[in-house]
Amino acid sequence: MACGFFTATRYSAHMRIAAIIVAAGRGERAGGDSPKQVQLLAGKPVYQWSIDAFLAHDRVEQIILVVPAGEAEIYRSRVDDAIKVVPGGSTRTISVKAGLQASDLSAQDLVLIHDAARPGLNQDTISRLIDAMRTADAAAPALPVPDALKRKGPDSLTTVIREALFRVQTPQIFKHADICEALSQSDDLVDDLAAIEALNGNVTLVEGSELLAKITYPDDLKRLETLLMPATPAPRFGTGYDVHAFEPGSEVILCGVRIPHDQKLSGHSDADVAWHALTDAILGAAALGDIGDHFPPSDAKWKGVASEVFLKHAVEQAAAAGWTLSSCDLTVICEAPKVKPHRETMRAETARITGLPLDAISVKATTTEGLGFTGRREGIAAQASAVLSPSPNRK
Ligand code: MG
Repeated sequence: MACGFFTATRYSAHMRIAAIIVAAGRGERAGGDSPKQVQLLAGKPVYQWSIDAFLAHDRVEQIILVVPAGEAEIYRSRVDDAIKVVPGGSTRTISVKAGLQASDLSAQDLVLIHDAARPGLNQDTISRLIDAMRTADAAAPALPVPDALKRKGPDSLTTVIREALFRVQTPQIFKHADICEALSQSDDLVDDLAAIEALNGNVTLVEGSELLAKITYPDDLKRLETLLMPATPAPRFGTGYDVHAFEPGSEVILCGVRIPHDQKLSGHSDADVAWHALTDAILGAAALGDIGDHFPPSDAKWKGVASEVFLKHAVEQAAAAGWTLSSCDLTVICEAPKVKPHRETMRAETARITGLPLDAISVKATTTEGLGFTGRREGIAAQASAVLSPSPNRK
């Protein structure tokens, strides 16, 4: 490809855009047994974060990863086939040149040059850089300097005016022809922008990001991990309580199981007091109101309905709010019928409706020693607790 100089053509949507990710450094200061670009950041190698950011941007057509000489085959086996892997050189500038040579861009196309050690690249930064090329010869993300700056002289300190200073990050964007030409003059530059500056090119700084901070020291990885990974909410806990009175009949329904008895429970639905309590516990953990809000007893639609409808609804509503039911504990309070012989069937039925594994479902029973309305055999009470965990796909 031909290298001209400060080619007059400005950015147009027809220009192709490639990204070069430089991952050829040794990075000893970051600590660990391996170079910083291959260490894991939130479970993913540092270099992969930048690859994923460029892959996600619809204007970036080609991605070139420059790796330590001799390690190209290892990286090729690790990255997507669409990524071109190129061996780098002894300095960062030589590695960048290797990446430029490997691109199939023409002179007027744009190239983003990025350090793998800056994994916090987002889509907005890439877009801002591309937009800046409507008027600039080159552009880079930059941040102001928040701290006071001092220059140390032989005997004293002087204050440096920090408003005129910027911390320059990558990616930096260039026209392919321009950066090829500019870099031909040197093999060891602090960054690629310096080559354009040296030739009085029109350089634009766009808004950078603290997420683009370079990983230099061991603590940087931990700090970036905290910034890049949204905090996982703590599990939520809910409780439910319900009572139904006895009336003449021949069976009660507890956790969907028909248990022969000399009475039945009265109620608008099937009066499954245990699943009503559990439904309320789930809705309560997700702060979604109570069973009466979702299934008003005044609505004839719910007359005689099986309570599995309520329980399933609560699990689904919690899931829609980003919560997964992870365990529940139910206590049925009555003198009769005996619950224990039916306990395993009640757990299995609860597992069938909620999708929980059996070992996450507890069903217990107790009496009130003849005291109170349950002691007088006037009805059955049930209490339940439920734990909801944040769903893996929670936003
Ligand atoms: Mg009820």
